[in-house]
Amino acid sequence: MSQHLTTVAGVTVDTRHFIGGERVASADTFTDVSPIDGSTLGEIARGTATEAAAAVAAAKAAFPAWAATPRAERARLLHAVADGVEKRLEDLAMVETCDNGALLRSHRRGVMPRVAHNFRFFADWLLTLEHEDFDTRGHTNHVSWDPAGPCVLITPWNAPLMLATWKVAPALAAGNTVVLKPAEWSPLTASLLADIAAEAGLPAGVLNVVQGYGSEIGDALTSHPDVRRISFTGSVPTARRIAASAAAHLTPLSLELGGKSPLLVFADADLDLAVDLAVEQYDNAGQVCLAATRLLVEEPVAEEFTRRFVARVARLKQGDPREEATDIGPNIHPRQLEKIDGFVQRALAAGARAVIGGHRRDGRYYAPTLLTDVAQDSEIVQEEVFGPVLTLQTFTGEDEAVRLANDTRFGLAATLATGDAERAARVSARLVAGTVWVNCFFVRDLRAPFGGSRQSGMGREGGTWSFDFYCDLKNTVTAPEGFASKGCDAKGGK
Ligand code: NAD
Repeated sequence: MSQHLTTVAGVTVDTRHFIGGERVASADTFTDVSPIDGSTLGEIARGTATEAAAAVAAAKAAFPAWAATPRAERARLLHAVADGVEKRLEDLAMVETCDNGALLRSHRRGVMPRVAHNFRFFADWLLTLEHEDFDTRGHTNHVSWDPAGPCVLITPWNAPLMLATWKVAPALAAGNTVVLKPAEWSPLTASLLADIAAEAGLPAGVLNVVQGYGSEIGDALTSHPDVRRISFTGSVPTARRIAASAAAHLTPLSLELGGKSPLLVFADADLDLAVDLAVEQYDNAGQVCLAATRLLVEEPVAEEFTRRFVARVARLKQGDPREEATDIGPNIHPRQLEKIDGFVQRALAAGARAVIGGHRRDGRYYAPTLLTDVAQDSEIVQEEVFGPVLTLQTFTGEDEAVRLANDTRFGLAATLATGDAERAARVSARLVAGTVWVNCFFVRDLRAPFGGSRQSGMGREGGTWSFDFYCDLKNTVTAPEGFASKGCDAKGGK
C-alpha cells in the first residue's frame, strides 16, 4: 500500500492534500491518533504556506467555469455528491467515530444522513433563490446573487464532516470554489469527501482540501488576497487571529464560535422532560458548541430536579463509542482532558461541590460532572469547558432567570423548559441567543438562520442567509424604455 494511504476500520483514506483534483504530499506529516484507544490512524500531510497558495490558486483557476455553470447543473452535481455520501455512509460513520470518538450510532443515524442532506438542501435552495423585481419610478430593480470567488472554510473536530459540509455545500451551490481545512485532530472524513466529490464529477479545483495545523497553514489561507470569503467554526481565540489576518484584505468573515448556553427550568416545567434535556447536554462527551452547560433551575423544583437528574445520569453508559449501548464516548485528546479537568479542579478549589463526577476516568474519558455552589462570576460559569461538565444554579422568577441566562460574553443558544406558552414567549424574547429552544433541544432546520450573538459569532448562515454570505449581492436598475436622464438632481432617492 502507498505510504500515502492509511486504513481505518477497513476503509482506505488518502492522507495527502487534495489540490486541483490531484493528491499532493507535503514534506512533513503529523500523526493522527484515535481518541478511543490512542492508536495511530495515519500520518497526515502537514500543510504549509506552499500548499495553501497552491490550493487557493487551484480554486481561483476553477472559479470562472464553475461560476458560469448553470444553477441546475451545479445542483445536479451536488446531489451526486449527496448520493456518494449515502453510498459510503457506513465508511464515513466508522472513520469519523475512530477519528473523533463521537458515537457510531449517532454518526450512522443522524450525522452522516445530515451530511448528505446538507448537499441536497443547498442544491434545492439554489434553484428557488430569487427576489421579486421591484419598481422605482418606472425603473426595474433586479437583485442577483453572484458567485464571490474562492472561499476558505476552516472547521473544528467535534463534528468534522457535518460542520464542513454545512459550509462546503452552500459555498459550492453559490458558484464559489472552496479550500477546506479540517481540524488536525480529525482530518480523515474531509479526505474521503474529496474522493466522493471527484467520483461525483465535481470539476478539478472546485473543492480542495488541505490538511495541517491551523497555526502553520491557517494564516496563509486567511490572509490570501485571492480569497473572497472565510467561514470559520471554532474557538474565540482562533477567531480573533483569523479576523486579524483577514483584515489585510477586508475579506468577509462568517464566524461560528463557542458558547456557554443556559437551560432554564421553570417550576411549571414537565420535570422529566427537563431532566432529559439536561442529560442530553452530555452528548458527544460535552463537546458540542450549542450545549446548554449552565442549568438554571427555579428554586422550588431544584432539589427534585437534581435528584431525578442524578438518577438518570447513573444509567448512562460511558465507553467505546463504536458500541451500540454506549451513551458517552471519550474526549478528543489528552490536551482537551487536561483542559477540562483544569476547569473542574479550579472550580472545586474555589468552593464548588461535585454532585456527580468531578474527575477523570481511565483512558480519555471524563466522568459526567455536575457542579453546584458556583458563583455567577466564576470561571466555571463564564468560560466554555467543552467537556461533560454542567453547572447548576437556582433562580426565583423570570427576571432573575433572564439576568443569569444573559450574563456571559456568549450568546449562541438557550433552552427553556416550561409548561406555560406565554412565559416561553416572554422569556425567549428577552434572551440573547442565536437559537432558543422551548421544551426541546438541537432541532435544526437548514432553512433557519444559524449563528451566535456577542462572542458566539458573527453573521448567520442557513437558507438564503448562507447565499447572502457566500455571494456578492447585486442590484441591477434598468430604466424604462425611452427614459431620458435628467441628471442627478432629478433622480433623488426612492
Ligand atoms: P479551534 O479554534 O482550536 O480550531 C478550529 C479550526 O481552526 C481548526 O481547523 C484549526 O486547525 C484551525 N486554526 C487554528 N489556528 C488557526 C489560525 N491561526 N488560522 C486559521 N485556522 C486556524 O477550535 P476547536 O478546538 O477545533 O473546536 C472547538 C471550538 O469550536 C469550541 O469553542 C466550540 O464551541 C466551537 N464550535 C462552534 C460551533 C458553532 O457552530 N458555533 C460548532 C462547533 C464547534
